[in-house]
Amino acid sequence: MDVSHLLDGMNDRQRDAVSADERHMLVLAGAGSGKTRVLVHRIAWLIQVMQYSPMSIMAVTFTNKAAAEMRGRVEQLLGRDVRSMWLGTFHGLAHRLLRAHYQDAKLPQNFQILDSDDQLRLVKRILRALNLDEKQWPAKQAQWYINGKKDEGLRAEHIDAFDITDKTLKEVYAAYQEACDRAGLVDFAELLLRAHELLRDNKYVREHYQKRFRHILVDEFQDTNQIQYAWVQMLAGTQNYVTIVGDDDQSIYGWRGAQVENLQHFLRDFPSAETIRLEQNYRSTNMILQAANAVIANNEDRLGKELWTDGADGAPISLYGAFNEQEEARYIVSRIMQWQEQGGALSDIALLYRNNAQSRVLEEGLLYAQIPYRIYGGLRFFDRQEVKDAVAYLRLISNRNDDAAFERVVNTPTRGIGERTLGLVREAAKNEQTTMWRAAQQLVNEKILTGRARTAVTGFLTLVNELEEATHAMSLSAQTDKVLHGSGLLAMYQAEKSDKAETRVDNLKELVSATETFVPTGEEGMTPLAEFLSHAALEAGEEQADAHQDAVQLMTLHSAKGLEFKLVFMTGMEEGTFPSLQSSAESGRLAEERRLCYVGMTRAMEQLVLTYAETRRLYGQMNTHRPSRFIGELPPDHVENVREHVRVETPSQSRSRFHTGVSHESFVETGFKLGQRVLHSKFGEGTVLNYEGTGSQSRIQVNFATGSKWLVVAYARLTAL
Ligand code: ATP
Ligand code: MG
Repeated sequence: MDVSHLLDGMNDRQRDAVSADERHMLVLAGAGSGKTRVLVHRIAWLIQVMQYSPMSIMAVTFTNKAAAEMRGRVEQLLGRDVRSMWLGTFHGLAHRLLRAHYQDAKLPQNFQILDSDDQLRLVKRILRALNLDEKQWPAKQAQWYINGKKDEGLRAEHIDAFDITDKTLKEVYAAYQEACDRAGLVDFAELLLRAHELLRDNKYVREHYQKRFRHILVDEFQDTNQIQYAWVQMLAGTQNYVTIVGDDDQSIYGWRGAQVENLQHFLRDFPSAETIRLEQNYRSTNMILQAANAVIANNEDRLGKELWTDGADGAPISLYGAFNEQEEARYIVSRIMQWQEQGGALSDIALLYRNNAQSRVLEEGLLYAQIPYRIYGGLRFFDRQEVKDAVAYLRLISNRNDDAAFERVVNTPTRGIGERTLGLVREAAKNEQTTMWRAAQQLVNEKILTGRARTAVTGFLTLVNELEEATHAMSLSAQTDKVLHGSGLLAMYQAEKSDKAETRVDNLKELVSATETFVPTGEEGMTPLAEFLSHAALEAGEEQADAHQDAVQLMTLHSAKGLEFKLVFMTGMEEGTFPSLQSSAESGRLAEERRLCYVGMTRAMEQLVLTYAETRRLYGQMNTHRPSRFIGELPPDHVENVREHVRVETPSQSRSRFHTGVSHESFVETGFKLGQRVLHSKFGEGTVLNYEGTGSQSRIQVNFATGSKWLVVAYARLTAL
């Protein structure tokens, strides 16, 4: 059997790791040194050389996207499918376990996943039910508390509460959990905790999986939390082998309970583990790598790793200081256009930022220049209001006891069920220890609700029942389509007649296409609808509508972990933005911000551009900032200040310069005459007023009904009328 392709092109240390005998292993290495690649090849090695069945391997990654990529690469190496291998995120795998053993986990068969938005609503409801003032007891804080305790593996009854704050939060946790259990809802943290308890308390289930998974492999181990590590230990038992890969310098989820100490705990708990260090970086140019190394060197308490590359020196890091965030966006757009002109693909570009809210201005700049882009996180498809509304109807059809879904759509579209009536339903649900659906039924049956309220609530209950009856035999997409119409959601957004409403209608339609392309695995006891709903909650947004289009990638620094791009922009490099204001006061949090900076920089393969704005309007406030301290930590000879080399102009400045003698040339450049009528897909019809610039930079001023606009000709896709 020829297995050389599993080791080809690897360095010695990588080969050692891929072809090691059966043993526990820790691969500890810096960014871009091939950790993930080693993991992929190791899995292929286990299957092809060591003759393990894919069934006996469990591999854990940080995102669903990473898992899909990993599966694809393993299949490519082996030339066969490895569907039976458990590969996914901790949450995804926990979910799978709970579905398979729902009874042992004391869950109803049709349990649903509660995402963090719905969780917050439910927490708010609990606070109201306990008569706690939300000003004094913010729902977010309670949510944080609950998830934190769950990540530590603690149930409310295990918590020792001494002061009034702890006692109250503990009470909220207990009441919240009761409500979840009653309604068959499982939040993200609960997935892990419940699966952990299942393995811990059920000898049969535990031994079954311990026998099955002979090899457990975990990527990005530095960002595991306590319960995730406990999971790994439990499944490892005494006979199985664990391989973890990680980088302490890339631990960026401490704020969410991740424990970089797990790396040391692993060496303590698996003393026979061999540590393999990889030191050659294959991703970035020398410039980028040295600059990243210089920044992270400012942190203390590092495990210490060398990282070098024999690749090209590459271009220096570009630094651009803008006046404000608008100008920052304009500069970035101009760099992107330059990249395109040189034949670069848009999908090789990433725009990274510290906070989701920073994306809006960048998006506007890209939209204006008609550069396609995709967003990871933030505006996730399944997180959008209208999509959540539609999904809530589907969830209710699948499970009437889903209180979160009930609350969401009982009066959407409005059907005259006011806060007072809802209050009665909540109260009854609380008193009777039952779900809102049942409580509503009861209030109707016992004629406690009267008049219009009774009619309205009855109408809603009947609607959901009828929708189920009418659609249960339909295909998933026909069912979804019918629900969109039958619920009145589509009509509601269609009637709204605003730009936003139009997008919402499009999104609802997109939901039907999502159900069309969704392939259920046909897991026992699960309807396609139930499978789709789990998918919607778990994979929110990782797959967007225009996944196949060549597009610039926008994401937070956090979600860029593990990825790589030829050209990377790190935007908003200002004190108070990055590092964030809260973190700059605390050394621990500052160190984590610096690791985040290291993660961001090491995503870049060829070019890295850092930008900052002297003033920035964010969350509706204008602030002046100094450049980020991380900029000051870069080796000066690795940085090129590009401010003086570029000309970013406002249309009025450039108009005066190009005022005379360009009309003829511009006609050749743009193909439009002054005074000509043109059509734009978004702004409608207009008249050409002016030109400026040449080549792909040439711009055209058009007077539309909504006012005059400067457009980049190459991207505006104007049609002559
Ligand atoms: P991160 O810490 O960012 O997750 P990583 O250590 O997981 O990085 P990989 O993503 O596995 O690194 O590898 C980085 C890049 O280097 C990838 O493009 C990978 O294909 C490439 N690479 C890894 N090892 C080699 C090698 N021996 N020869 C050529 N390219 C390699
Ligand atoms: Mg990796």
